[in-house]
Amino acid sequence: MTDVVIVGGGPGGYEAALVASQLGGRVTLIERRGLGGSAVLTDVVPSKTLIATAEVMTTLRGAHELGLRLDGSADLAKAFRVDLAAVNERVLRLAAAQSDDIGTRLRAEGVRLIEGTGRLDGTECVIASTADGDERLKADIILIATGTTPRELPDARPDGERILTWTQLYGLDAMPERLIVVGSGVTGAEFASAYNALGADVVLVSSRDQVLPGEDADAGRVVQQVFERSGMAILSRSRAQAARVVGDEVVVELADGRTVTGSHCLMAVGSTPNTVGIGLEQAGIATDSRGYLSVDRVSRTTARGVYAAGDCTGVFALASVAAMQGRIAMWHSLGDAVGPLDLRTVAANVFTAPEIATVGVGQAELDAGLVNALAVMLPLHTNPRAKMRGIADGFVKVFCLPTTRIVIGGVVVAPIASELIEALSLAVREKLTVDQLAESFTVYPSLSGSIAEAARRLHVRSTDQALPH
Ligand SMILES: Cc1cc2nc3c(=O)[nH]c(=O)nc-3n(C[C@H](O)[C@H](O)[C@H](O)COP(=O)(O)OP(=O)(O)OC[C@H]3O[C@@H](n4cnc5c(N)ncnc54)[C@H](O)[C@@H]3O)c2cc1C
Repeated sequence: MTDVVIVGGGPGGYEAALVASQLGGRVTLIERRGLGGSAVLTDVVPSKTLIATAEVMTTLRGAHELGLRLDGSADLAKAFRVDLAAVNERVLRLAAAQSDDIGTRLRAEGVRLIEGTGRLDGTECVIASTADGDERLKADIILIATGTTPRELPDARPDGERILTWTQLYGLDAMPERLIVVGSGVTGAEFASAYNALGADVVLVSSRDQVLPGEDADAGRVVQQVFERSGMAILSRSRAQAARVVGDEVVVELADGRTVTGSHCLMAVGSTPNTVGIGLEQAGIATDSRGYLSVDRVSRTTARGVYAAGDCTGVFALASVAAMQGRIAMWHSLGDAVGPLDLRTVAANVFTAPEIATVGVGQAELDAGLVNALAVMLPLHTNPRAKMRGIADGFVKVFCLPTTRIVIGGVVVAPIASELIEALSLAVREKLTVDQLAESFTVYPSLSGSIAEAARRLHVRSTDQALPH
């Protein structure tokens, strides 16, 4: 039997454990905090559960426009008080239940679970340090899936009460009066959006011109406009360099000397990989200059028999990618059919209001001349279902190759973009043409009708197709 030892029980680790067990490996998984990892306990599950409550508030805010009235208030959301303690209790309960479910499934599949910290001793042995002492585990195959930790600025150390990382937010039992969010990447923007919808006064400190600098620029513009219209203060081109607690307040110092004062501050300034002190150097496993494990597209590290998956590889910080890297590692090492990881087909979503979902090639690559493609962008306010639902902000963008008209990417900005992107994701993965996408029926009226309409606009008459572009 092949002994597989996995260090880290997040999506990269536990999905790999399931595959390894299915393929007949004798699998041991070492996790030091809780099954499901950061994804389940502090990151994806808690944040999206919090956002589910925020979405209800956003809907209530739009209710007046749809003809709903509450005596004495033009804003239905104002009739509700957010009980943050109850919201956070639900968030943590759901996360714990999800973690339990994962443990139950792993045990049912015969995976041995060790509660402890793992470190490599060469490339054929892992030491698990537990409350009962150390255990040496012989390994034919090792998978490292240790994830990341929130990055801290030296002069803005989280105290867990007023200066917080996203993992500490769920300890709040009352709505922050004024929440300063430092960082306008995906994590910062999602929490700023959620707390804004929940009724907190939010200040978003962004070092860039526009929020969500890593996303499609048109999409970032829409989200920024919605944020500003809803009363959020955005300090653009403002770099936070320090934060300190003064009495009942937090004072954030910006690089240009200005200060911002709030009741709480969320630091969302990225993550650092959990790759220190786990025996990498001794095992001859290379990392890049920032400490991320170097892997190829079948998740191999530089050491034979040692694989790595998920955020600790710095490939694409998504739970879905972590899980796929983990599965690929096991398919490869245990001799099953396997294709290399294809980042061009990854669907990603930013859970702001509205959401931004993307797949495949992006506008930035077109603008930089890296890809020759045609693009169509349809604003959502022309969509009949959007009008009925009072959705004014958002769009659908489709990219295709000029000659073959094969769909190579797309962007959806809409309240449920995470669901709508599926059609484009399938088209990119299966290399469908815009005609194939357009000819599949969509429901009338529906938001997905705009995806088919965008594809129709990229149609070219068959008699014109032979013409040079
Ligand atoms: C706020 C936030 C929201 C997010 N939302 C989404 C989302 O909506 N969708 C999405 O796809 N992605 C989302 N992500 C990204 C997602 O959380 C990560 O991509 C995912 O958690 C990566 O999984 P992983 O298995 O690599 O690591 P993790 O989930 O971090 O798991 C790693 C585990 O390894 C354990 N560990 C570390 N070192 C050791 C050791 N030496 N011994 C034993 N155990 C160890 C840790 O305790 C941890 O449990 C979000 C991230 C953040 C910060």
